[in-house]
This record gives sequence, structure tokens and C-alpha cells, in this order.
Amino acid sequence: MSAINVLVVEDEDAIREMLSLVLEQAEFAVRAVSDAHQALAVLNESVPDLILLDWMLPGLSGVEWARRLKKDKQYGEIPIIMITARGEEEDKIKGLDVGADDYVTKPFSPRELIARIKAVLRRSNKLGKSGRIEVGGIVLDVDEHRVSISNHDVDLSPTEYRLLEFFLTHPGKVYSRSHLLDQVWGRSSFIEERTVDVHIRRLRKILAEYDREELIQTVRGFGYRFSEQT
Ligand code: CA
Repeated sequence: MSAINVLVVEDEDAIREMLSLVLEQAEFAVRAVSDAHQALAVLNESVPDLILLDWMLPGLSGVEWARRLKKDKQYGEIPIIMITARGEEEDKIKGLDVGADDYVTKPFSPRELIARIKAVLRRSNKLGKSGRIEVGGIVLDVDEHRVSISNHDVDLSPTEYRLLEFFLTHPGKVYSRSHLLDQVWGRSSFIEERTVDVHIRRLRKILAEYDREELIQTVRGFGYRFSEQT
């Protein structure tokens, strides 16, 4: 099952490794890099659910990169938690000013960090309120990465899980194939829009076993909509 993806940007090896370990133990999927340049390369491959960003980085500073990201049309929505070595009030304000969603001050406890991350994810609707999202009898448990329909556990591939998660958290609106590609697969030039149709077909087939296939609606000439109303 697909997990919540966190991108860690931290130049100090020991701290980066510690962060990766703590996040993995909390069952996040982690990509860890040491500067903004590498971080951008990761973004171009797949869009993370959250970025954990060190304030002081070689080259482009974390706070400057956060400022740029938050203005970016494509990446502006990604929640960012800044990691700062100094707990100075001025830094905190500056970090939040550039658009960071929260900050943690080194040294921090793993438990505090995970709690902060979950709070930010919840605020940005990456997690349902109780970690459970339910639409039309489909229940997606974000914490356990499990899906059930009419109380039956459903086996989904990671892509189908992300696709269904996107639909459940964005019901009622029409999304184009390219938008779905960006949101579910991340930006990648190797994937064609037809791939979306293939996965939609698979997901529909699974939903059909529970008489729910009409939840995914094709909007001709535009894309797909997930709705309880037909
Ligand atoms: Ca640093």
C-alpha cells in the first residue's frame, strides 16, 4: 500500500539519517536529499505530500527555497515544515512569513516531529480528520493504508490506492487526465495520459465487484469525476 511521501532536505548527514529513520518508523515513505538542487530533482519525479526542510542549507538556503516553492503554481500547495537550529522568534516569524506551514527547532523529539507532521497533513487535508475517509461506502484508512468497501478489505496496487485516495479527498469535481497524472503519479515525462485510463479501468473493475463502479464518472472530452451523484 502506498504511504504518505515525505521529502527531507537536510545537509547534515547524521540529522538527515536520523530524520529518515524516525519517519520510516512512523511508516512514512521517505526521500532524503542534502540540498535544494537535489530536492527539485525529486519534485520533478514525484510530488511529495510534505517537505521537511532545513533552514540552513549550502547554496540556496532552505528558507529561500521555501519562499520560491510557495509561489510556484505547481508546488505551492505542498506543506512545508522548516527545521531550524535557532529557536529565535524572528526566525520563526520569517519562516512562517515565507509560507512554511510549521517549524520545529533542533533538538526536537521524534514524537514531537511526527505529531507536527500529522497536524500539518491533517490541516492540508492529506489525512482525514480521524485518519479515515469515507465516501459512498468506501472507507480509506490513511494511517493503516487500508481500503474497505462494505466492510470487505480490498486489495489495491499502490497506484490504485493513490488514485482512490485522490478521488475520495476531492469528490464532486472533474479532473483532467494531466491533473490526475500530476497529483497521483507526480510529474514525469515518461507517463502518458493513457496510463490514467488504464488505472481508472482497473479501479472501476474493483469497484464493480461491490456495485460501486458508477462512482467514477467519465466526463467526455475532459476527464474524470468521483461522485455519489450520477
Ligand atoms: Ca543545515
